[in-house]
Amino acid sequence: MAEFFDEKLKQAVDAQRDDLISLCQDLIKIPTLNPPGRNYREICSYLAERLARSGFKVEMIRAEGAPADSAKHPRWNIIARHEGTKPGECVHFNSHHDVVEVGHGWTVDPFEGVVKDGRVYGRGACDMKGGLAASIIAAEAFIKTCPDYAGAVEISATADEESGGYGGVAYLAEKGWFNPERVQHVIIPEPLNKDRICLGHRGVWWAEIETKGRIAHGSMPFLGDCAVRHMSAVLEEMERTLFPLLATKHTAMPVVPEGARQSTLNINSIHGGEAEQEPDYTGLPAPCVPDRCRIVLDRRFLIEEDIAEVKREVTAMLESVKAQRPSFEYEIRDLFEVQPTMTEKDAPVVKTVAQAIEKVLAKQPEYVVSPGTYDQKHIDRIGRLKNCIAYGPGILDLAHQPDEWVGIDDMVDSAKVMALTLKELLVR
Ligand SMILES: [Zn+2]
Repeated sequence: MAEFFDEKLKQAVDAQRDDLISLCQDLIKIPTLNPPGRNYREICSYLAERLARSGFKVEMIRAEGAPADSAKHPRWNIIARHEGTKPGECVHFNSHHDVVEVGHGWTVDPFEGVVKDGRVYGRGACDMKGGLAASIIAAEAFIKTCPDYAGAVEISATADEESGGYGGVAYLAEKGWFNPERVQHVIIPEPLNKDRICLGHRGVWWAEIETKGRIAHGSMPFLGDCAVRHMSAVLEEMERTLFPLLATKHTAMPVVPEGARQSTLNINSIHGGEAEQEPDYTGLPAPCVPDRCRIVLDRRFLIEEDIAEVKREVTAMLESVKAQRPSFEYEIRDLFEVQPTMTEKDAPVVKTVAQAIEKVLAKQPEYVVSPGTYDQKHIDRIGRLKNCIAYGPGILDLAHQPDEWVGIDDMVDSAKVMALTLKELLVR
């Protein structure tokens, strides 16, 4: 009997193949660029109409007062819920609806939803409108095939994941939407490949370091104190001690790609001295000794590391520079931090999706951890919901690239995995 329903579900998804393609195209055609956060209301209204037609109860929620929320660019989210015929658990699919800037190098229109060679192209195709479309088709196929199920199915499309998720999942989690009493399983269809289960992500710490000097005429640098030279001493010390230290720290988390299986540090930017002029400025710069120099650090840390220790390593390095340079003065400011998170491999949602992958793709899933963070952080930290993974179609490397695409077969296969997962968790 179980196998009978598996087959029926797969057929139901196959029957919706064209619908899945056009749904993905329609979503790409609504350019939800973030920043600044365009057309959020439009995409939520489109989804509201679609899901209401399929029998979902739909709520549109604006993250009023959240960072970046404004009258011009309101942060709209949608949560749709379909109730079964008896009590049971709730399975929630959460996708972000925002996309990043287009950038250069496209050979197709990024907002046309071009279909070519078995792929749908466009900004957001893989990250992650393809995954959103797949989860909707999966839920609709499941509801049609197994109408007498227990519990509930939820679909959400949320704002601002690309800029931290504060006007999206973080806001909804604070308002109780991801409370484990109302939602028991969460699947985030980010583009991790259809045969991979993403258990979590590394931690993040962003900080700004500023070195201080004294301004003077550039022809008499001895009368000033050059903040850029102080920063160069910091960078040298970093090369000498910090980078080698980070290279020794390895994690048991299955992070992909392999290079991210250690602690990493990027210097996101450096600014010192006179600000750069507009490109149409035709004059020369002025001769001044820079009195400020700033860098922004992007430190990614492992589940085995403690954030206090991560910060201490950097201040210890700065203090050792200070010990060597008499006039060295610095400030360090925290900008942003996220703790690492990893769902247990024997959590119910992990085990169920793993089985569904085996049934649909006839192979064992690969378990991975993401080098960067995504909305799971808010579901875990604010929502206190641990039973959460990322699983969805598309190739992560294509995210944010020109000519981004999602494979149609991949969307269909992952929709089947999602539909079988729903049946396994909700049909009693
Ligand atoms: Zn994404």
